[in-house]
Amino acid sequence: MTTKEELWQTVLAKTQLTISQANFATWFRDTKIVSQEKNQVVVSVPNSFAREWLENKYGKTILKILNGLDKEIKEVQYKIGKADLKILKKSPVSFSEMGQLKFQEFKVDKNTNLNPKYTFENFIIGGFNELSHASAWAVAKTPGLVYNPLFIYGGVGLGKTHLLEAIGNEIVKNFPKKKIKYIPSEKFTAEVVSAIRNHQMEELKAKYRLIDILILDDVQFLAGKEKTQEEFFHIFNHLYEKNKQIILSSDRPPKAIPTLTERLRSRFEGGMMADISSPDFETRIAILKSKSQERKVNFPDDVLEYIASNVKKNIRELEGALNCLSVYQKLHNLTIDIKIAKSLLKNLILSPMKVVTPKKIIQIVSDFYDLKEKEMLSFSRKKEIVKPRQIVMYLIREDLKCSFPFIARKLGGKDHTTAIYSHGKVLRELKTNENLTNEIDLIRQRIFSG
Ligand code: ADP
Ligand code: MG
Repeated sequence: MTTKEELWQTVLAKTQLTISQANFATWFRDTKIVSQEKNQVVVSVPNSFAREWLENKYGKTILKILNGLDKEIKEVQYKIGKADLKILKKSPVSFSEMGQLKFQEFKVDKNTNLNPKYTFENFIIGGFNELSHASAWAVAKTPGLVYNPLFIYGGVGLGKTHLLEAIGNEIVKNFPKKKIKYIPSEKFTAEVVSAIRNHQMEELKAKYRLIDILILDDVQFLAGKEKTQEEFFHIFNHLYEKNKQIILSSDRPPKAIPTLTERLRSRFEGGMMADISSPDFETRIAILKSKSQERKVNFPDDVLEYIASNVKKNIRELEGALNCLSVYQKLHNLTIDIKIAKSLLKNLILSPMKVVTPKKIIQIVSDFYDLKEKEMLSFSRKKEIVKPRQIVMYLIREDLKCSFPFIARKLGGKDHTTAIYSHGKVLRELKTNENLTNEIDLIRQRIFSG
């Protein structure tokens, strides 16, 4: 990875914590910094929709994070472009001077779709993933013979993709002749849909039948996709009967995937199922140490302990915290001490003492929609004020369980029927309006993580 990528990784790590998973996946997918010149950073985005959202909704936050990492950065531009656009421009001096800190660059293999950065060598083992690791290792050594299919499940950011790809990469090493394919379920679904549309289902099936090792990531996304499930069922059977290895991952066990057809569920459960849970404190320290080494950075023990005792949920967040510190350390050429670490990570680490009040909700919603609090509490009937006001009432009711008369009073002394109406209106609209769902998600993230 180059430093440009590290900068963006840090932005991603930080924003991921303030917005919902769904929003994050929607707006930040396939984005990257394509150039940094003087005080301007150019971010490439996959489409105009994403550009609009990044500019309007997250622009301020992104700039703030970038500026916090590198004071030079004053402006961010969003351009629609291919994410893998080759950049010919040279990096600014401050970046290239840090030659020894550059990350190794990894390229996803075109045939297998595997990313070589995920290996068994850099996969840390602890009680939380021991069984998954051992099964994965066995499969990598004797594909098709021991556990078929291998089904790995566990929460977000706990290493499922890493492990799946490590199996693939290990097999490439040991059995170079085998045809391996790694594919995320969403991509597989898209392939099936497009094959159906273009009447090329037979070709698609034929292609999959040639595979020796099929790795399908995040199969929970097959939920509700009946046609895709059906096609996958046939491919699965064909490969299985020929002792070809199938490896699957999911964020939950098969029986908890809604609308997974019975026959596919029993196939998934028919081999080895292994789960990954969360790493304990010691393992979190071990992971931080190993990742620092990878990045060729060094942090004092108390800093690592501070991260490990505050970032508990998943390994991706541990990496996010570490990236944030290492980028800062490299840019400013100083050693991070516990004080700096605390101030840099304060957004990442949620304070347990925070209290959510109606006032806070009013503040945050006003801020989200760029309104003054006075406007929010006014009696104005302007659409751009009415909607946020209704959202405020909805949130106070839903999340703080306050009474309608109380809510009405807090909103500048309105009638309680207004509060009832507003709450109901938002509730109804949420059923059909996905944008509203996203916005409220986003607002909630701010309320509860700020
Ligand atoms: P998932 O697919 O479960 O959401 P990932 O495999 O993408 O999670 O893991 C998130 C990040 O954490 C990746 O960068 C990965 O390399 C790292 N990671 C996860 N588990 C481990 C581990 N046991 N050892 C080292 N790094 C890990
Ligand atoms: Mg994954």
